[in-house]
Amino acid sequence: MSNSTSYKTTCCYCGVGCGIVVNKDRNGRLHVEGDKDHPVNKGMLCSKGMNLHYTVMDQSDRLLYPEMRYSKNMQRQRVSWDVALERTAAVFKTLIEKYGPDSVAFYASGQCLTEEYYVVNKLIKGFIGSNNIDTNSRLCMSSAVAAYKMSLGEDSVPVCYDDIEEADCIFVAGANPAWCHPIIWRRVEAARAKNPNLKIIVSDPRKTQTCANANVHLQIKPGTDIVLHHAIGRVLIENGDIDFSFIKNHTEGFDAYSKKVMRRSIAEAALICDIPEAAIREAASYIGNAKGFITMWTMGLNQSVVGVNKNLSLINLNLITGHIGKPGSGPFSLTGQPNAMGGREAGGMANILPAHRDLSKEADRNFVQTFWGGTNISAKPGYTATEMFEALNDGRLKAIWIICTNPLTSLPDARMAEAALKKAKFVVVQEISNKPETLPYADVVLPAAAWAEKEGTMTNAERRISYLNKIVDAPGEALPDAEIICRFAKKMGYHGFDYNNVAEIYAEHCKLTEGTNIDISGLSHEVLKEKRGVQWPFPSSSPARDDDDNFFGTERLFADKKFYTQSKKAIIHAVDDSNQSEATNEDLPLTLTTGRIRDQWHTMSKTGKINKLKQHISNAFLEIHPDDAERRNINEYDLVEIFNGRGKVRVKANLSTDIKPGVIFLPMHWGKILNNDLNRANNLTNNLVDPISKEPDFKFSAVQVKRYKKA
Ligand code: SF4
Repeated sequence: MSNSTSYKTTCCYCGVGCGIVVNKDRNGRLHVEGDKDHPVNKGMLCSKGMNLHYTVMDQSDRLLYPEMRYSKNMQRQRVSWDVALERTAAVFKTLIEKYGPDSVAFYASGQCLTEEYYVVNKLIKGFIGSNNIDTNSRLCMSSAVAAYKMSLGEDSVPVCYDDIEEADCIFVAGANPAWCHPIIWRRVEAARAKNPNLKIIVSDPRKTQTCANANVHLQIKPGTDIVLHHAIGRVLIENGDIDFSFIKNHTEGFDAYSKKVMRRSIAEAALICDIPEAAIREAASYIGNAKGFITMWTMGLNQSVVGVNKNLSLINLNLITGHIGKPGSGPFSLTGQPNAMGGREAGGMANILPAHRDLSKEADRNFVQTFWGGTNISAKPGYTATEMFEALNDGRLKAIWIICTNPLTSLPDARMAEAALKKAKFVVVQEISNKPETLPYADVVLPAAAWAEKEGTMTNAERRISYLNKIVDAPGEALPDAEIICRFAKKMGYHGFDYNNVAEIYAEHCKLTEGTNIDISGLSHEVLKEKRGVQWPFPSSSPARDDDDNFFGTERLFADKKFYTQSKKAIIHAVDDSNQSEATNEDLPLTLTTGRIRDQWHTMSKTGKINKLKQHISNAFLEIHPDDAERRNINEYDLVEIFNGRGKVRVKANLSTDIKPGVIFLPMHWGKILNNDLNRANNLTNNLVDPISKEPDFKFSAVQVKRYKKA
């Protein structure tokens, strides 16, 4: 593009983390294209990424000024930043003095930049003295995090995208990357084009776009993933397709695992999963014959009341076959959000400290406390996402500060979350858009800068940290999130928030990682601007260049077969294969599963305003099998009501044989529009969570459907 200035940055939607070139013309108009030099996407972009510039150029929905009210029955008024932050600080101080530090909480987002996570985490843990910070990453990634820690000793994705081209078997479990991680999937498709022997296994109750490339689609019943994984494990053991030497030298727990998987015959497993026995054997034979084997998964495993066990049972398949720590192999959790991993690096969750340090260890707490120079860090874990809203509901929590997320659309049992915000004594909403359903509950609204209006860093699904450039000024008085938090911290009277720029925050974050498994002490904004993405760890001793004169960090973990556990061995967990979701019954016989569609992102505050993206699917809908529809006298496009004891949804029916009978699907993006919340899938979901990860059970709620109005 002539007469324009080009800026390199990173896509802010999903965890793939594609590199983007933004061209700004003389009139300030933006246009994006894929960055051909970026190692992730090599110039490719999906539909969401290609239209990213519209989210910045259309400012019609932007929050421009701070607003505040002194009591719940007042209208909010425009105020200055000083007034808004002084009032917020005064309320926080009063609540903390009266009810203690655990009476306040921050609820943030996997879309926040690492520097933003860092300062908000430092503020609440290091100075306020509570661990009440959690993020919407709890809703998508926490089961994978817990499973990685339990099996590999660390929250660490061992693989990189380049492994895709080296694999000859990929097992996609409970994920639809063709729609939700499109650029990763294009790399899989390209790998298949080059290597027709690349086998693809997909397990999913729905036949999604990803299944178009599958050699075998295991259309299991919801909640039977562990039974399936154990059955595949059993076939691998029986066929001798396991790596005895790797198991003996580098793992623990195989004997118990072997006993566990041998208890159930393949025929019985096939019956429970409701798939042919031959399909299980076929999948196992692809894995058994593979020289490089990758497991890939997302929400189908994570968003479950047994999410950690589902993850562990899948990771076991890599461990028993020795497919980890070598090219083309490894368990690959496909991060949903663009910076869920960066947030955890900064410690921005209720149960961890920066650099994955352990909140339960006194030495780790003391180290971080001394580094920050603030108050004693509490040993008590904070409230996780759903716990925060439960605590607001029963009065344990008095104030919540919501940053860059829309919990009233995205949390399970949305009406419970709504009731919680109604009861809160004080609500702060820090947002870019004037649309979110949280705004009517806000006592203080703080306008935030959006993508391309601020700088910082993010870490993608393969541990690659990329820099995001500031390209345009934020509208009105909107400020970068990190600056808002630092200004507030100073109003609270805390020291240590006097940064001159975001690069200084990042430098402090990198320093705090020194000596840990995720050491990035060799990084800085300057390095990241030059390298266009570096995979951690990247300690200060890292070489500046490799043999190709190009160093991008640590592409693959565990090449030395030494894991982060105490014994340095990976742990094979013999997990129970039962599901603990709420039971279906005669009145609520169908299983509701929720998920994403191709061209929308989360609660649509960005993608929802782009007409081109609405052309794919413009309204919420119900996917239902024709047999289930016929039993209810439902025809295509009839308005149907989906209901259970928690609430109801009314949308049009799409009849499809792609979904398993007995299962229905609703997209999770739509929330309350004006006063109508009948498109909101989370009216129906339950607030059961995995006992370890505290991740909700979005993929399994008992419901019934009836025709509401004929098409
Ligand atoms: Fe952005 Fe993800 Fe699409 Fe890449 S795949 S362009 S990161 S939304």
